[in-house]
Amino acid sequence: MTAPVVELDKITVTYGGRLFRGEGFQAVKGISLAIAPGETVGLVGESGSGKTTLGRVCLGLQPPSAGHMRFGGAPFGRLRARRGQLSVVLQHPEWALNPRLSCGTSIEEPLMILGVGAEERRARGTEMLEAVGLGASFADRYPGQLSGGQRQRVAIARALITEPRFIVFDEAVSALDVSVQAQVLNLIRELQDQHGFGALFISHDLAATRYICHRIAVMYHGAFVEVADAARFYGVPEHPYSRKLMEAIG
Ligand code: ADP
Ligand code: MG
Repeated sequence: MTAPVVELDKITVTYGGRLFRGEGFQAVKGISLAIAPGETVGLVGESGSGKTTLGRVCLGLQPPSAGHMRFGGAPFGRLRARRGQLSVVLQHPEWALNPRLSCGTSIEEPLMILGVGAEERRARGTEMLEAVGLGASFADRYPGQLSGGQRQRVAIARALITEPRFIVFDEAVSALDVSVQAQVLNLIRELQDQHGFGALFISHDLAATRYICHRIAVMYHGAFVEVADAARFYGVPEHPYSRKLMEAIG
């Protein structure tokens, strides 16, 4: 078996310790999870269950209050050392894309931070535009001139250009129409086949996770109530709460 790209070991996140008489609010409660290269784990659960917080922990953006995490088999270490190895795609591409930058510049920017020269940046940017199905002509366009689905493709190209080993998709297709969702989900699956990144796919929508996730983790009030292979999960979810979520999608 291949070593996990991300390993969480009894991760707890407590917010606002002092405000709540020192006790704080536990948004994530003792979660353990290992994600393999090339694997997508779907993280589902209702709003406020702690999904985004857990995603931020995986990215090194939210220090856990307790527990340990490893990246590629080694202690997580400093975020600087992980530059280019971790990416995120958010619900609203407007938040990731600067409206004043052309799509080409936005896509290349992470390479600039890594010190890659202009010529190579341009070449890889064009390659990424092709890979996400937009084509080189989009390099000179601005986010405001694109549809929601096209903007999300640009955001995905930007997230992938550094060839990260792990990507968090946080409600990445939730704002898109169902038909556009399906196209973007297919794109993510294709890119994963080619690049082999591990992924945490956060969604409140069990229909979306069904298309691309190998395993499903169901979160409720900061804890996992069930983690199962997708095939089994979509057959018969074990936990009553999972069944309730399933019934909600019909
Ligand atoms: P989800 O993504 O599942 O909707 P979140 O991880 O965003 O859940 O939030 C989980 C809980 O933690 C919520 O009750 C939310 O209000 C709370 N929370 C999230 N971020 C913060 C923060 N920075 N400070 C305090 N509480 C927070
Ligand atoms: Mg969230």
